Amino acid sequence: MEIDFDKENGLVPAIIQDADTKTVLMLGYMNEEAYKKTVETKKVTFYSRSKQRLWTKGEESGNFLDLEDIKADCDKDTLLVRARPHGPTCHTGTDTCWKEENKPHFGFLSILEGVIADRKENAGSGSYVSSLFAKGINKVAQKVGEEAVEVVIEAKDDNEDLFLNESADLLFHYLILLQAKGYTLADVEKILRERHKK
Ligand code: AMP
Ligand code: ZN
Ligand code: ZN
Ligand code: ZN
Repeated sequence: MEIDFDKENGLVPAIIQDADTKTVLMLGYMNEEAYKKTVETKKVTFYSRSKQRLWTKGEESGNFLDLEDIKADCDKDTLLVRARPHGPTCHTGTDTCWKEENKPHFGFLSILEGVIADRKENAGSGSYVSSLFAKGINKVAQKVGEEAVEVVIEAKDDNEDLFLNESADLLFHYLILLQAKGYTLADVEKILRERHKK
């Protein structure tokens, strides 16, 4: 890949983005050596202006950034580095250097997960979700089983509306079961991703 290292004393800015969530994690600088080391070791390595040496992110903290890929921008003087962080990327302990959380975004499903989590913590009177949590995991699991059977039944039929509605029921109750067990969609997504790599 062609990179223009000549503009700023041999350094180019490197924007580090989480390969999965697309969140911007930090900004660092690479010289040619840092770039090569990053590609060779698959651990994101910068040239530290304060340390005045190559610096592999995570070398002390263990919070390495595993390289996914690197792209140069339109005029080849800025890098976009996609990586997977082992832990918080900022040395202050936050996920990003802009104090942002780096969570997977499942759109409205994430909002729904938040509402379900809230109903688990603060049992709302008259809340269906709270009442399900109160009945215990076995009852929630049974509900998922029932909704799954309903999906199977509707799959055989040609009423698309019923099929979609039972699918929504299933997904909704599955989200509740995950929370009842103390998990989230992100935990399941992680396993799917790992399988995909193989
Ligand atoms: P680490 O590379 O995570 O082992 O951290 C080693 C040192 O690098 C820290 O003590 C900080 O001085 C510095 N450092 C780590 N992460 C960052 C960051 N995201 N931005 C700036 N400096 C950092
Ligand atoms: Zn540019
Ligand atoms: Zn930082
Ligand atoms: Zn149903």
